Amino acid sequence: MQLAYTQRVMPAHKRMALVAHDNKKADLLNWAKNRREDLSFHQLFATGTTGTLLSSTLGLSVKCLLSGPMGGDQQLGALIAEGKIDVMIFFWDPLDAVPHDPDVKALLRLAAVWNIPIATNKSTANFLMDSELMTQESAIEIPDYADYLASRTK
Ligand code: PGA
Repeated sequence: MQLAYTQRVMPAHKRMALVAHDNKKADLLNWAKNRREDLSFHQLFATGTTGTLLSSTLGLSVKCLLSGPMGGDQQLGALIAEGKIDVMIFFWDPLDAVPHDPDVKALLRLAAVWNIPIATNKSTANFLMDSELMTQESAIEIPDYADYLASRTK
């Protein structure tokens, strides 16, 4: 589908989503401990279990949504569609099946639709965090929703 695009300016203090599947939670917690200072600059959101562990490990405030299998991935997807999440770090497990696989796909799909920077492994998470754009205002291209709607309703 041909889309028109517009821009969205992301704030310097990013609204960051953090998610880890069960076999990746230890990895994410270790990574986050090493990145605590960087993460503390941002506003953190997470699925329920990941967020509860992150907040007690880091001593930082994390807005915890529902646990992933109980709807947390869908909540994050909705926030992304509403332009309320700027960046997502998602340590997903490529070697295990999860009951909420459709929700995971939907979350990744919405992140692609709304063109937010996402990392789905540790290397990309490091590249993202080390980008100078993480700590300054930066514009991303997003679908022009008004144009999309007009084209479907004329
Ligand atoms: P959780 O959800 O943080 O509640 O474990 C993560 C997920 O599996 O999506």
